[in-house]
Amino acid sequence: MKSPESPADEAQRLAALQALEVLDTEPEERFDRITRLARAVFDVPIALVSLVDRDRQWFKSCQGLDVTETDRSISFCGHAILRDQTFLVPDAAADERFADNPLVTGDPRIRFYAGQPIKGPEGARVGTLCVIDQRPREFSEQQLGQLRDLAAIVESELALVQIGKLRRELAERATAQAIAEDEREQFFRLSLDLLCIAGFDGFFKQLNPAWEEVLGYTLDELKTRPFVEFVHPDDREATASEAGKLAEGNTTVAFENRYRCKDGSYRWFHWTARPGMDRALIYAVARDITDIKELERQLREAKLAAETANRTKSEFLANMSHELRTPLNSVIGFSNLLLKKAAALGPTETTYLERIRDNGKHLLTLINEVLDISKIEAGRMQLEIAPVVLAEVVGETVAQLEGMAHDKGLAVESEVPDGLEPVQADPQRLKQVLINLVGNAIKFTETGSVKVRVVPDGSARHARRIEVIDSGIGIPATKLDRIFEAFGQVDGSSSRKFGGTGLGLTISRSLCELMGCELTVASETGAGSTFTIHLPRTPGAKGIAGERPARRQQPGFIARALGEMPGDAPRTALVIDDEEDSRLLIAEQLRELGCDVFLAPSGKQGLRLAREKRPDLITLDLMMPGMNGWEVLRRFQADPELRDVPVVIVSIVAGENRGTLFGAVEIVDKPVGRSTLKRVIEKHLHPRRRGEVLVVDDDPSSRQLLAELVGEYGFRVVEASNGAEGLAQIARSKPDLVLLDLMMPVMDGLAFLSRLRKNPEHRHLPVIVVSAKDLTLNELKRLDDQVLAVLAKGDSLDEALNDVMRRALGVGPQA
Ligand code: ADP
Repeated sequence: MKSPESPADEAQRLAALQALEVLDTEPEERFDRITRLARAVFDVPIALVSLVDRDRQWFKSCQGLDVTETDRSISFCGHAILRDQTFLVPDAAADERFADNPLVTGDPRIRFYAGQPIKGPEGARVGTLCVIDQRPREFSEQQLGQLRDLAAIVESELALVQIGKLRRELAERATAQAIAEDEREQFFRLSLDLLCIAGFDGFFKQLNPAWEEVLGYTLDELKTRPFVEFVHPDDREATASEAGKLAEGNTTVAFENRYRCKDGSYRWFHWTARPGMDRALIYAVARDITDIKELERQLREAKLAAETANRTKSEFLANMSHELRTPLNSVIGFSNLLLKKAAALGPTETTYLERIRDNGKHLLTLINEVLDISKIEAGRMQLEIAPVVLAEVVGETVAQLEGMAHDKGLAVESEVPDGLEPVQADPQRLKQVLINLVGNAIKFTETGSVKVRVVPDGSARHARRIEVIDSGIGIPATKLDRIFEAFGQVDGSSSRKFGGTGLGLTISRSLCELMGCELTVASETGAGSTFTIHLPRTPGAKGIAGERPARRQQPGFIARALGEMPGDAPRTALVIDDEEDSRLLIAEQLRELGCDVFLAPSGKQGLRLAREKRPDLITLDLMMPGMNGWEVLRRFQADPELRDVPVVIVSIVAGENRGTLFGAVEIVDKPVGRSTLKRVIEKHLHPRRRGEVLVVDDDPSSRQLLAELVGEYGFRVVEASNGAEGLAQIARSKPDLVLLDLMMPVMDGLAFLSRLRKNPEHRHLPVIVVSAKDLTLNELKRLDDQVLAVLAKGDSLDEALNDVMRRALGVGPQA
């Protein structure tokens, strides 16, 4: 027996057969009709529509057999589908391909087979129409033709099956589409947003009912006029340009315009749109945002009103503090002046005066603190964040409060590890917090000690916290929270016993928060308290950071001003000494005498600093390790640039070495006294010219106080009560220094300054601003380049003035 081979296109053939979707379906009359006819026409017992599957032949229609399929390997049809022509086997028993085929040797005992291949719609031979007889036969040409015709009818029926199937699919698809359409329509009708399709021609094509509801026009009214006609005249140009961009293929996101309603009012629309280029249409969704716009407008107005109110409040506070501080300045200043002359007063008068001054100071503190609190509350506290060396801030704080502690017999210790990196904070504000904490610690401690400790993290390079520890009266646990509230004191009577305002900690805590720190307290009644500033890991301040204002910088102006001052060369001194104590001692005395001082701990560094700083005077020790004083002196002499700088030898071996010190202007023994140094300086440095000072202030007592204070420096004083008078006075008497108030009638301080600086002659006339006004960072910045310093009228005015006079002008009070 020979099994049928697979045709060359077997894979495609099987795919085509599968696509027909007729395998294993129920018998159908349309095919049975044909096999019945074939059986009759050819007078055979068996006629089949056989489909040749991968491993079997399956009968879609079968007459004369009671099986539905047989194995492909024994099938006759397997052979028949190998070619287009009818496959004829006249006598299977005599045909070696089939003689031992079980279908021949057994049932249905095939002897004759004629099979005409059937093609699927794409031309692949999927099966046959075949007729079978149990006796050998021949087929005439006519019979062959008839078999082909019948097979063609089978093919048509198969095609019809396909068409029916396609039709059903199409119907299903149409239904699904209709449902989708209906759903879309529902959404289209329901949408509160305005949906539309517009043409590139500028007309609406489709609109959902929301349009009618929102604008009040019928949809037809909207469709019959170009849509820009409904747009607010001010928005038409933008709308036309947006539509133009859509027509070029761009999409619209977040475009806004106003549409006119039938009643003449306008609604704000927020648009999203995209073009359909092939159909020249725009698909767009508009949201009515009129209410949101209105809310935004109200918010803006409210914000503006709040800002104006806030500004008015801040201005009021700034003015009020000015008005309050001005008279207080006089109260404190004159009390201080009188107290300096205490010898002329009796003890009772001195006590009264101290009361006046102390109460004045208390009031001033209160005003400053209330101002701080209102600034914090208004969110207007301006911070100047900069790297802060904790050792310096702690040192300055301790130095400032040492006197207070000393009066109570207490010691203030500080412990700051070496090598800490600077922290990011506002140095002035951090110091304010520390002064408050250390001041409290001293105030509330009678015996024991007060300590400021900086605790580093594991790396020993970053400070984690600052602790202020005291052994004082402590705070009851129930009051721990209360002390951070405004005016919160542990006990109402404490303000009488200890003084204070109850505002310090409130401000301190807020300042800490603004700098990104946290302020906490731990305390035990009778044992003491520890206040801790927890520093941030990543430093970052929350306050309004501003640039550092003039008063903390060395104003660039100072150097220029000094350069121009007649007869006033800057006075700097260099101290070269290997002993620290003696270096500091000499430096302190030189500073008191009005010099800026540089320090060098060795001869070598002394040489370097001398070349770098060009001091006006050098003090030189002799016995130093490394390069000794003689060698340093020799090198100064050899250097043409340094040869003329006066060198004062200050040494324990000065006396006996007089003869060896060629070139030194003075040779003095250690320890050197203040009067000796003073004599030396006066001899070798040009004396300061102490000419005339102009005080410009509208408040007569402020003027008088300032006149008294600068009078102590040996200046002559002339006065003016406003900027205009000040300018007139300058034209008359050419003063050497101006002390200037800012808030004055007729012409205020800022106007005075700008007029003054316009005149080239007075461009560098030194001006010190002395004002009770609370200056903003902006105002400070404006002053930066124009004045030597900005001083606040208040209790430490005399010290602040002394500092500027000494630092900037190199003059101190005359003894
Ligand atoms: P003031 O010290 O001006 O009263 P503060 O806000 O600085 O205002 O302090 C509030 C209160 O907290 C103080 O009046 C005092 O009762 C309590 N207090 C603050 N620091 C200490 C301290 N180190 N020891 C004991 N009590 C303290």
